[in-house]
Amino acid sequence: MDVIADRIKRIKPSPSGAARTIIAKLREEGRVVIDLTVGEPDFPTPSHILQAAAAAANRGETRYTHVQGMPTLREAIREQFLNDFGLDYPVADIIVSTGAKQVIFNGLAATVNDGDEVIIPAPYWVSYPDMVLLNGGKPVPVSAYPETHYKLTPGALERAITSRTKWLLLNSPCNPTGALYSRAELAALMNVLRRHPHVWLMTDDIYAHLNFTAERTVHPLEVAPDLKTRTLIVNGVSKAYAMTGWRIGYGAGPVALIKAMATLQSQSTSGTSSVSQAAALEALSGPQECVAAFRDIFKARRDAAVAGLSRVPGLEVVQPEGAFYVYPSCTQLLGRRTPEGKLIDTDADLVAYFLRHAGVALIDGTAYGVPGTFRVSYANSLDNIERACVNMQLAAKRLLA
Ligand code: PMP
Repeated sequence: MDVIADRIKRIKPSPSGAARTIIAKLREEGRVVIDLTVGEPDFPTPSHILQAAAAAANRGETRYTHVQGMPTLREAIREQFLNDFGLDYPVADIIVSTGAKQVIFNGLAATVNDGDEVIIPAPYWVSYPDMVLLNGGKPVPVSAYPETHYKLTPGALERAITSRTKWLLLNSPCNPTGALYSRAELAALMNVLRRHPHVWLMTDDIYAHLNFTAERTVHPLEVAPDLKTRTLIVNGVSKAYAMTGWRIGYGAGPVALIKAMATLQSQSTSGTSSVSQAAALEALSGPQECVAAFRDIFKARRDAAVAGLSRVPGLEVVQPEGAFYVYPSCTQLLGRRTPEGKLIDTDADLVAYFLRHAGVALIDGTAYGVPGTFRVSYANSLDNIERACVNMQLAAKRLLA
């Protein structure tokens, strides 16, 4: 008898886990691999945050917390939404969970009925479709054009909406492209949603603070405040404060939805780690210089990665405006043969070739829903980024020779 439930058979493990296993194996064999697959900042958590967590533990803040999150932390989150986007949510409309990932999961689990559709602009963060599938929904990926950085267009959104559409999932800045939606682009998309009152909007703003443009990140609700009654905002401390391992994410939305998510959380994980919540409270309410410092480091790396990748023959590179990824198109390198005569048929073949022949680990674009591309994470040192690009230039030249 098969013990595994059918719903689990609909989903697959994340590709970064698979990449980690291959990289570890190659390193064991003595190979040098520059790992550009990583989806997290490579900095330690700032020390004032560590100290706040230790102090909380020593004070005895080691017990269960409120299921929706400590009121002091939710107050700090309220302040952050006010400061960043001018959006005011009472603490009752805010929930703290085990990472932004759990907020998204609970948001979907609390709302998606069998057969409900969720529109996901492609390329997308790998977990979105699987979370929809796990909850009985139907992911509806919508691709746009590389020239416009794969950003969802109003026309494509309009065409994707049906009577079964439950959510539009918007992620800006985007993993894996680094694309950032402008105020005008958001306004055009929100106009489409206005015509379809049954569609809810989930905004994954986890990279909102990693924006390299002169303009601050704009939230869709700033241009369409009337959509607040059907929007779930998702954010967290993982990326902005180098706190991925602490597992703190948060959401804000209509209170009935937040209450349903809290009920689900109360019967599954309960309130998240007390010590992590104390750390997140310090992250949000303590000194903010670290956020700008991380952003500036990432911006210098972005520039180095874009310059280096633009010199790799056969790649088309669009400059990303946020997050810490570049998403080149590699179609010109497909159909080529390696010096040993092996055909590079797909983006996954190319990624395997770069791993073996350039010592650079990447993630293929098929994993993100767009074949003929791949993702480069520049959450790595400038030196490694530059070396990786030179190695890739040489390896690509051999394919084109
Ligand atoms: N959304 C996106 C787009 C992400 O890239 C990630 C992290 N890889 C998350 C959500 C999850 O973040 P957290 O660590 O807060 O769960």
